[in-house]
Amino acid sequence: MSGVYDCLVIGAGPGGLAAAATAAEAGLQVGLEDDNPAAGGQIWRRGNAAVSVSHSAEQWMERIRSAKVDVLCGWRATDAGTDALGTPFIRVEGLGGFRDLRYRKLILATGARELFLPFPGWTLPGIYGAGGLQAFAKSGFDVRGMRVVLAGTGPLLMAVTAHLHEAGAKIVAVVEQAPLSRLMSLGMHLAPSAPGKLMEGLRYRLRTMGTKYYFGHWVSEARGDGKLERLTITNGSESFAVEADLLGVGYHLVPNTELAQLLGCGLENGFVRVEETQETSCTSIYCIGEATGIGGVDKAQVEGRIAGFSAAGRIEKARSLFAARDKQLRFVERLAAAFALREELRGLAQENTLVCRCEDVPHGALRECHSWREAKLHTRCGMGPCQGRICGPATQFLYGWHAPAPRPPVFPASVGTIAAVDEAGVHHE
Ligand SMILES: Cc1cc2nc3c(=O)[nH]c(=O)nc-3n(C[C@H](O)[C@H](O)[C@H](O)COP(=O)(O)OP(=O)(O)OC[C@H]3O[C@@H](n4cnc5c(N)ncnc54)[C@H](O)[C@@H]3O)c2cc1C
Repeated sequence: MSGVYDCLVIGAGPGGLAAAATAAEAGLQVGLEDDNPAAGGQIWRRGNAAVSVSHSAEQWMERIRSAKVDVLCGWRATDAGTDALGTPFIRVEGLGGFRDLRYRKLILATGARELFLPFPGWTLPGIYGAGGLQAFAKSGFDVRGMRVVLAGTGPLLMAVTAHLHEAGAKIVAVVEQAPLSRLMSLGMHLAPSAPGKLMEGLRYRLRTMGTKYYFGHWVSEARGDGKLERLTITNGSESFAVEADLLGVGYHLVPNTELAQLLGCGLENGFVRVEETQETSCTSIYCIGEATGIGGVDKAQVEGRIAGFSAAGRIEKARSLFAARDKQLRFVERLAAAFALREELRGLAQENTLVCRCEDVPHGALRECHSWREAKLHTRCGMGPCQGRICGPATQFLYGWHAPAPRPPVFPASVGTIAAVDEAGVHHE
């Protein structure tokens, strides 16, 4: 390695793996880094040895190895700058300190996280994000015999239900806020345009036959003495209670755009704006996968291949994939429409329901504020360890606020890493 990667990829999920392999096979010297202990991202997360990883994941890993991609796992990108020679770099922090990864082309494949909406009792032990609960189970958390409710919205609920069912959990109910009519309409669109995705959904449903699904319903309250014991489920006019040990709840996904914003990339409707080649508004910086639009694993991979070819200057190769990518983009729009959040969810939080759980700020203290900035100054909302990653999207939904562009470091970093920024003379655009 000359000390400067031809192409640096941040995020080793399906999108990042595809991008790194494609760019390296096209002749570039590629670095791929991720904050998880192993590559795979959200869907191909490796945990205990019993978790099998998909065939596609194994194929990308094999190509990454053959093409000699330099893989760094367990390092989180926290900052960006340029060195004294004007070469851009991403600063990553891991257990061993920090490193500056220099690059000529950058591909951002930072994925998405779950959207959490506050409701009374949502901070009780036993309540997780739906995808978070699945990740926890994949890492060895034993769910056998536990009574589990999955709630919120989006296709992730089906995948998590199937996984936890097969891991031995007793799925009490799946509570989807979208009405059945909208999901039927999504199914009818998918049948001719994306039959594979429809079949995938049906396969998940078949694997959990007998599980009770409630469409057009949501969890309005959680109760328990020190831990989750009981949930109230409602459709707005009728409510009923169920007993549960665990709740996995998530209201679809929000893109991880902080690093892109720090680098100055433009956004559109909350996602990173990209050209056909996946290049952002910043020259030589590309973005792919969930960060450009929530569309799942197939979209992430095709966008990754386009970005890999584009970064390598193989534009004709990239162009040959545009039609496949555009098909995935139509799926993004359909997903967003099918799982759009209902108005009633804005009214769940009570005066004393925590919205910012890092700094213990309740809804009652926030609803008088007029902006994210005012809330931050008056209540410390968003100033805890999550730095607004959880409460920011919730306040956007509840109060219509927009968080300002992130400032470095984009993730909490050690004082040593931050101090070294100054010594190195890091320059922010
Ligand atoms: C919790 C969760 C669970 C999911 N489970 C499923 C599932 O079971 N089935 C399914 O079909 N879809 C699932 N999804 C949807 C999933 O996002 C997509 O299907 C697919 O993984 C998207 O690929 P991607 O490459 O865009 O992003 P991801 O797979 O999310 O990969 C992005 C990677 O970038 C890393 N990263 C982000 N920021 C930084 C940083 N600053 N520094 C270093 N690394 C960084 C992340 O840790 C992650 O490993 C899940 C989503 C979430 C949030």
